[in-house]
Amino acid sequence: MSIAIRRVHVRRYHLPFRAPVETSAGRFAARVGWLVGVESADGRFGWGDAAPWPGFGSAGTVGPCDPAVALAAAEGVCDDADAYHALVGDCVEAQSAFSQAVLSLAAEADGLPLRDLAAEAPGAERVPVHALVNSPEAARSAVSRGYSTLKVKVGATSVDADLLRLDAIRRAVGPDVALRLDANGAYSGGAALEAVRRFAEIGPAFIEQPSRDLATCARLRVETTVRIALDEALSSGRDVHAALLCEAMDVAVIKPAFFASWTEACAAALQCRRAGVEVVVTCALESAIGRWGALHLAAALGAGGAPVSAAGLSAPIEPHDDVAPFPEVDGGHLSPAWVPGLGVSPC
Ligand SMILES: [Mg+2]
Repeated sequence: MSIAIRRVHVRRYHLPFRAPVETSAGRFAARVGWLVGVESADGRFGWGDAAPWPGFGSAGTVGPCDPAVALAAAEGVCDDADAYHALVGDCVEAQSAFSQAVLSLAAEADGLPLRDLAAEAPGAERVPVHALVNSPEAARSAVSRGYSTLKVKVGATSVDADLLRLDAIRRAVGPDVALRLDANGAYSGGAALEAVRRFAEIGPAFIEQPSRDLATCARLRVETTVRIALDEALSSGRDVHAALLCEAMDVAVIKPAFFASWTEACAAALQCRRAGVEVVVTCALESAIGRWGALHLAAALGAGGAPVSAAGLSAPIEPHDDVAPFPEVDGGHLSPAWVPGLGVSPC
């Protein structure tokens, strides 16, 4: 159904992380983003989250196309959707937030959770999730709480130092826990080949974005035993098509936050699956409003009983600081009450 839009509300958030987040792109103390509320003509609200992050989506563009500049320009109340789009332009994060807000309104009007809006069958009730850890102690703790999939960032230091830490984590959790590595594009050329070959020793489930270069990733698939995942490289259906064409990935990490629409992210995920590529849905460490959108997408991929790969849906934000409630992980799974729409609004 079409939604008559009265106004679009944009407000900035700044959420301190419990502990700084370190990736190969730098060290981050807080998450900054913008909540986008779409108000319908009948006074209902749908919500989305525009959260630029270095290395992803529109980040890296400068001037008025810089996503932070575009979103700051749109802060406040826009008279209508045209005014909002004129201000945010090509900012993919702003488009993503608007899409999630409008689709949530449409789903609510149809009496469906967003999860089921585009599916022929209801999505999964329970979504498995991974835990992001960086030490043997944290890994052991996560496994004791029911997680069977862990993710570890690599590439912020030397391969030797990463391997020491990975080996300690592997010994702490044993051989049956899936260890996913994420290099955030840290390596290039021969260094990528050497790093991934050495990481093979600890038996990773896959390594995310070992290199920024698609051709290098395609080569790593052939010349190492480690499965290769792409993340930063995927921000549109066109990106996914390109990655499939050059056979650069075994796994697609889909972040709806960096696709221009939630439905485009969903279609891209299904295209990957049809091509035999595993799909992992993750958030962008953004507020609970954005993480709910990713949770609905992960559950949508479980429609008809299809298996759902462990998703990445947690952010190191204290729940009382967050902009909205988010379900607690229980036994390595999220099992929210699936109510019509997004299921949550900002506090
Ligand atoms: Mg990643």
